[in-house]
Amino acid sequence: MASRNTVLMRLVASAYSVAQKAGMIVRRVIAEGDLGIVEKTCATDLQTKADRLVQMSICSSLARKFPKLTIIGEELVVWVDPLDGTKEYTEGLLDNVTVLIGIAYEGKAIAGIINQPYYNYEAGPDAVLGRTIWGVLGLGAFGFQLKEVPAGKHIITTTRSHSNKLVTDCVTAMNPDVVLRVGGAGNKIIQLIEGKASAYVFASPGCKKWDTCAPEVILHAVGGKLTDIHGNVLQYHKDVKHLNSAGVLATLRNYDYYASRVPESVKNALVP
Ligand code: AMP
Ligand code: MG
Ligand code: MG
Repeated sequence: MASRNTVLMRLVASAYSVAQKAGMIVRRVIAEGDLGIVEKTCATDLQTKADRLVQMSICSSLARKFPKLTIIGEELVVWVDPLDGTKEYTEGLLDNVTVLIGIAYEGKAIAGIINQPYYNYEAGPDAVLGRTIWGVLGLGAFGFQLKEVPAGKHIITTTRSHSNKLVTDCVTAMNPDVVLRVGGAGNKIIQLIEGKASAYVFASPGCKKWDTCAPEVILHAVGGKLTDIHGNVLQYHKDVKHLNSAGVLATLRNYDYYASRVPESVKNALVP
């Protein structure tokens, strides 16, 4: 029987190639022009044809290559967000969009793959679009250049399309020099590891386990930290509730500074 690590590395390699294929589907749906938008729970919670096609593509590819995944499924769980930042995708903010494949072992996020289909889109019509970032705990994270925000600067990144008073209260309490409002959990973690933001602050429910699993691994693999707004580590075993009901707090450096500034009123309003 293949060892757990062998299975994990085969799974990471397969997830890397299916994430690249997913990026192509995301670009094709835009190019074809029919997004097939469906409202899930409300006007800011959308699903497009790209979400549906990528979900099918990733799940069928992984199921074909790993027919036994369900057998070890109690320990190894794959969390897929076929399209993270769907709202922004429907509004043409294409560089906000990512495809997220996260792998958890015994409830802990241990490997992550992020495809960013429109990376490099500002480089002009001839630019090659897209990149895949991947990481494994204890091995590292690859496919990007690690960069830090200038020391002493507090650049907060938060939601663009799912804001409310709690979210803005918490951001304000961080004493920010700059506030960035962008779509996607994957996109915001990329901002942290590329020196564009110092903290991802989202004091609201709404974000799901498939939004945080892959991004948290990439961040942890380079020494960062992602928790809920109380500082609790997130769990990813198969029976965990999908909603990150106590929000998200993530930083590459200086986690304690940001954690210490979360207001008690915000903590009281968000139950883990
Ligand atoms: P955002 O930062 O708003 O792009 O959110 C990050 C991820 O969490 C996206 O996948 C969103 O769809 C999801 N999300 C956050 N808040 C909500 C909400 N209120 N309703 C539905 N999805 C949400
Ligand atoms: Mg998402
Ligand atoms: Mg999604």
